[in-house]
Amino acid sequence: MLRRRRTFDPPVSDGQTTSPGTTVHPSRRWGQADHPYTGRTAALATKHDKLPLIAPPLEDAVGLRVEAVAVDTDALGTFTGDIPRQGPPLDTAIAKARLGMNAAGRPLGLASEGSIGPDPAMPFVHSDREIVVLVDDENGIVVWESHSSWDIVAKSTSVGPDEDLGPFLSQARFPEHQLIVRPNCGTVHPIHKGISSLDHLTAAVAECAAAATDGLARVETDLRAHACPSRRAVIAAAAERLADRIATRCPACGAPGWGRVDVLLGVPCAWCGTEVPRPRAEIDGCVACEHRQTRSIVSAEVRADPGECPYCNP
Ligand SMILES: [Zn+2]
Ligand SMILES: [Zn+2]
Repeated sequence: MLRRRRTFDPPVSDGQTTSPGTTVHPSRRWGQADHPYTGRTAALATKHDKLPLIAPPLEDAVGLRVEAVAVDTDALGTFTGDIPRQGPPLDTAIAKARLGMNAAGRPLGLASEGSIGPDPAMPFVHSDREIVVLVDDENGIVVWESHSSWDIVAKSTSVGPDEDLGPFLSQARFPEHQLIVRPNCGTVHPIHKGISSLDHLTAAVAECAAAATDGLARVETDLRAHACPSRRAVIAAAAERLADRIATRCPACGAPGWGRVDVLLGVPCAWCGTEVPRPRAEIDGCVACEHRQTRSIVSAEVRADPGECPYCNP
């Protein structure tokens, strides 16, 4: 028995997106010749200078032009925590894209959304998962991809006004990575963001420490995309994956966005034959029609290590 496992995000709450990159939509005909986005323009909702990360791969892959639209995406939540995030990151990315589409009056939009925090598998390591989404309201499809990385600088510390920040600053890769300073306890203001000079940092620490009930300032990486080069690299990688996916068209209907939507688990144990939950195949799917194809990723002769087997190694 093969067991199906959803390895990606759960469906978005509007019930339209059923698995990564897919949105159920009444099938329509897509021309098989030119790519439907060649020569078109998509609005990219961004406050934080993401155009140079997202536009080049899409332009190169399919000739889609991208224009930045300065909309206040902070309303959907911020990294600094002053506005809490609502809902799964994919929903937030889609909502951001629609903000840009509305502002620019375009039916095609792009946005990205990042999730940075302790890695679920390795709590002492931070990981960054970036989602980049394309929303096409003319054709009723959503295509998205993501990229995850541990190469994210996300440091924090609490310091008094006269403490030496030297070792922290080199770990935090300051000033290339900018910093945020706020009071450690008791109050959320004042808050200094986008700090990239020692003078600003020293003044901010003094002011925030004086405002805090414990006399300390909280110093942390400013994770906004324009302030955090290690995050920019992850967004760019996610955009590359999205561009590849958009360039790949459904073999049945020609829609852009063909790619992996699910993984099949079940590789037989070398000793007893029980299927252990290891990926054996990937399912590719279309964003516009129901077409699916299963692609083996291990050959039929491959057997799993009995160490992974629930019977041989309970
Ligand atoms: Zn076994
Ligand atoms: Zn299709």
